[in-house]
Amino acid sequence: MDSHAANPSVPASTAPADPRKNLVGLSREALLAEMAVFGAEPFRARQLWHWIYHRGATDFALMTTLAKTFRERLAEAYAVRRPEVSRALASVDGTRKWLLRFPDGQEVETVHIPEEDRGTLCVSSQVGCTLTCKFCHTGTQRLVRNLEPAEIVGQVMVARDALGEWPSPAEDRQLTNIVLMGMGEPLYNYDAVATALRIVMDGEGLSLSKRKITLSTSGVVPAIRRCGSELGVNLAISLHAVSDELRDELVPINKNYPIAELLDACRTYPGSSNARRITFEYVMLKGVNDSPAEARALVALLRGIPAKVNLIPFNPWPGAPYECSTRAAIKAFSDIVFEAGYSSPVRTPRGQDIMAACGQLKSDSVKKRRSELLKEQEAAALS
Ligand code: SAH
Ligand code: SF4
Repeated sequence: MDSHAANPSVPASTAPADPRKNLVGLSREALLAEMAVFGAEPFRARQLWHWIYHRGATDFALMTTLAKTFRERLAEAYAVRRPEVSRALASVDGTRKWLLRFPDGQEVETVHIPEEDRGTLCVSSQVGCTLTCKFCHTGTQRLVRNLEPAEIVGQVMVARDALGEWPSPAEDRQLTNIVLMGMGEPLYNYDAVATALRIVMDGEGLSLSKRKITLSTSGVVPAIRRCGSELGVNLAISLHAVSDELRDELVPINKNYPIAELLDACRTYPGSSNARRITFEYVMLKGVNDSPAEARALVALLRGIPAKVNLIPFNPWPGAPYECSTRAAIKAFSDIVFEAGYSSPVRTPRGQDIMAACGQLKSDSVKKRRSELLKEQEAAALS
């Protein structure tokens, strides 16, 4: 299967494509409209929603609150589809990774990280990423496309299938939190991410609260405010450097939206408060951004923003141009940030044996030229 992904001339599958429309990924309003055209009452659409997102049903025949003839008609016209799981891996530390394949042969990765008091699903928003942060494996993937809402929500549903969490449990869940920290820049695919998150947050379905969802961005400033006011999810910013000169090099989107503009957007992020702080991610690169002077500069930059700092030891990948900072350097950096009054945990790398840690996700899918997509996304972010 992987050899197919590496070679775009090989078709993804020889099975004939299913022409039926997928109901997964339609917003509540879109499902209502779809059912109205299909001749079904609004309460039928609500029942369907419950079966799809609360019960996890994929077979209309099992949706027993719907009349048999209606179920049969639905099954002729529609499907409730999951992305195909082309590989499932489990780490010695309990982390699980699923490689998902879509009908066009494109692939993304989704990771579940169990901890004592929570279980976090790391969700992808694009195949690859149009940005090229120098320390990130996803950024080296040659070509890219946006994921559709169904492909984003589908990651959550695949995880729920594998964890056996249907119907959506009210408590004692293994999937309690979602972070948009997988492959891709979520704010360059805002509309699809927003539709998918609204489905995920719906209380009559998957039912994950906005307080349990964190969107991580490299800093698409124009979309940050929209994200806060329309979705209200937690925000994480991939800062990684305290000067524009270095950030231009590490996180190239900084050339469009430099540090001062980015921090301004954070200062006014709707919904942030001392109880709901913005997370600043900072990857620790040996001899590059890890000096005590940079820790002090970081603290000065964050003044006035309800913030916490998440230090991420650099996770290496084959051919990466950096090394991880020493433990001593990370400790010294963390101490300075902590003493200035900010929480500064060092993120423990998880799932390293299955290449599931931050920044290691990459598949060999190929589609649109990076430059073409980047232009479209820039235009959309500014609109
Ligand atoms: N595109 C978004 C979300 C995905 S990346 C963003 O950049 O924020 C999730 C986090 O992993 C980001 O903070 C990213 O900078 C970090 N990251 C990328 N590559 C890494 C690596 N090799 N080691 C550690 N963290 C990495
Ligand atoms: Fe894209 Fe984020 Fe990786 Fe940068 S760190 S290349 S924005 S996925």
